[in-house]
Amino acid sequence: MDFLKARRLMVETQIKDRGIKDKRVIEAMLKIERHRFVPPDLQQSAYDDNPLPIGDGQTISQPYIVALMTELLELKGREKVLEIGTGSGYQSALLAELARDVYTVEIVENLYRSADKILSELEYKNIKTRLGDGYQGWAEYAPFDGITVTCAPENIPQPLIDQLAENGRLVIPVGRSKDVQELVLVRKKSGRLERKSIIPVRFVPMIKPEK
Ligand code: SAH
Repeated sequence: MDFLKARRLMVETQIKDRGIKDKRVIEAMLKIERHRFVPPDLQQSAYDDNPLPIGDGQTISQPYIVALMTELLELKGREKVLEIGTGSGYQSALLAELARDVYTVEIVENLYRSADKILSELEYKNIKTRLGDGYQGWAEYAPFDGITVTCAPENIPQPLIDQLAENGRLVIPVGRSKDVQELVLVRKKSGRLERKSIIPVRFVPMIKPEK
């Protein structure tokens, strides 16, 4: 299979044609070999217009949704970004192309390990991975200019709001139902929060760790 051709087609039809404009996001999606982030038997489907299973009941997000969430972060290259839900590591790689430093937290050990492995193989030096609970964010490296959450909590976790920098952007699916949530963009301005609904989405629910 010609992965480069598949990737170009994905970017044209799923990303540009649907309104993603940020040139840096588009360039990075052309560059990153998405098929390396999915299980070997699914590589043929890596550029399809849907999420794919990556094991442990989890998924790699649909390409358009990854692009949209990343564009909403408005990355110019000097930011510190936090990702909750490393999953396959695909969005972590995308963020690493677009920001200065990426911090990513995953709660499922298998996924944490395999994402960490592929991201080191690809020699990303500006990504720090962590096995832990994303509800807590990653206080040690806060504040973050951008925070992206790829699993859906019922409400926005307070630590994530606290760890957002002034003028920072938080992109997060929020909702009680596991079938439909709302993608929300939160911006912190003069310490206050501006909240905007983007589109309905469907993400895996955010896992609450056992106490
Ligand atoms: N960005 C990823 C999306 C993975 S799906 C990608 O494109 O591959 C969401 C991920 O969130 C899953 O891997 C899931 O295990 C993880 N997750 C769920 N609850 C979590 C929590 N409380 N803290 C951190 N990660 C969590």
